[in-house]
Amino acid sequence: MIQVMEPLHRPPRRPHAWLPLLLASQALVALAWWQWGWGVGLALMLASHAVAWWGVLAPNSALYGPVLTRLPARVPTVWLTIDDGPSDDTAAILDLLDAHDARATFFLVGERAAARPELVRAIVARGHGIGNHSRTHPQARFWALGPRRMREEIAGAQRQLAAIAGRAPRWFRAVVGHANPFVHAPLRDLGLARVAWSARGFDAVHGDVDRVLARIGRDLAPGAIVLLHEGAAHGRCVEIIAGVLRRLEEQGLRAVLPDGDGPVPGAGIAPATRA
Ligand SMILES: [Zn+2]
Repeated sequence: MIQVMEPLHRPPRRPHAWLPLLLASQALVALAWWQWGWGVGLALMLASHAVAWWGVLAPNSALYGPVLTRLPARVPTVWLTIDDGPSDDTAAILDLLDAHDARATFFLVGERAAARPELVRAIVARGHGIGNHSRTHPQARFWALGPRRMREEIAGAQRQLAAIAGRAPRWFRAVVGHANPFVHAPLRDLGLARVAWSARGFDAVHGDVDRVLARIGRDLAPGAIVLLHEGAAHGRCVEIIAGVLRRLEEQGLRAVLPDGDGPVPGAGIAPATRA
């Protein structure tokens, strides 16, 4: 029997599937309200809204579209993902990764990439992946962006990154992990797949290196997708990444890029020219 494996890279196919579901659920709420009174109706309405909010706010939720949260655990490898660059930390991180023979995907902010294109090219030249992490990183209101602004954020970053790197990203990371219902249509159109994580230490806000490493360490296992940051205000990101790389070595885990983390056919570099 031939086993068909799920592809890791799954751009959304039906990004508007939530709309009929939402309408149907609210019609059912109205029906229940009418049939059994306000107590039942209100409870059902609140429950349905809680589900809708969970879909936006839980980074691993696939309510509105597919999301990759871990890799198959068949081999002792992990995927390091480093968000929010390029930054003052990028060069040091690249040296660290080289020293550990590790590969990572950098989820870059379009505007920051445009300001420091040489760092983006260094990331690619040294064998790492680049992902789309929005054009301006509107972290306070990403969850609330409407369809037009959301498309601008995602497509704008995609254009900037493809122009600088010579290849278009294939992966998208939602800002703060908050993927609202309008994220998935532009992802489908651009061939982007959303990726979340299975290990994180809240290193974007906490600069206590030991605490961050302890948190990440709990979830370091084959197949883990590790969320890391660069350029955080506390200035300890490089130290944290160094600590993670040490732990990976101690645990016999290698940091590699997921299968097929190459260029998108037709977007930048044609498949025939791939090495
Ligand atoms: Zn971010």
